Amino acid sequence: MAVHVTLITVLVASALLEVLLYVTYVSRSSDGYKIYPLRGKDLRRIARVMLPNSLLSGALIVGLTYGGQGWLLHTGETSALGVVADVVATLVLYDLIYYCMHRYLFHGRLQWVHVLHHTVKYPTAIESLYVHPIENAMGVLLFIACIWIVGPISLWGFAVALAIYSWLNIVIHSGLDFRHAWLRPVAYMVRKHARHHSSMRAGNYASITPIPDLVFGTAE
Ligand SMILES: [Zn+2]
Ligand SMILES: [Zn+2]
Repeated sequence: MAVHVTLITVLVASALLEVLLYVTYVSRSSDGYKIYPLRGKDLRRIARVMLPNSLLSGALIVGLTYGGQGWLLHTGETSALGVVADVVATLVLYDLIYYCMHRYLFHGRLQWVHVLHHTVKYPTAIESLYVHPIENAMGVLLFIACIWIVGPISLWGFAVALAIYSWLNIVIHSGLDFRHAWLRPVAYMVRKHARHHSSMRAGNYASITPIPDLVFGTAE
């Protein structure tokens, strides 16, 4: 698998996932699965923020991955266990540093940046990147920096980590209660992040796992 195939696959799938989850949420057939009732959405206002941010995050991910390929990725043989280790190490590190960044910067000195995201009280999947461009860029830079610290990692490890990082950010804004037994941890993260959007003081700062919030006492 080549780097460009990985990037195109994950980024195109992200766009499709956003649309699929949004259409599911606004459909009346999902009424029994909505965490909060459907509110009126100004799609033009959302598009004015989301589309430039989608281009920015896509350009940063592609540019940084190609520019830093030698530091980020290795081309050697990799076992399945090696891929799992790459993914877990990258995402655990990201989850912990993102937690600190979100709690102490975005809800501290950089609140003026983060407040835009919190204007959305009942998010849908298409508002996952309804953020200030600075917040968007900081998130992508942090993710790539974590790969650099852990890495160089395998291309498969990069593909899985990028997919989880990108797709989970979309899913936790979906407003949908996933009831399948295997998706319960995902449903828990959706509810947890919905609670975060209800107030700037609602805790629940981590976005990949609940572990940092549970360890540092900010889970609500
Ligand atoms: Zn959010
Ligand atoms: Zn926040």
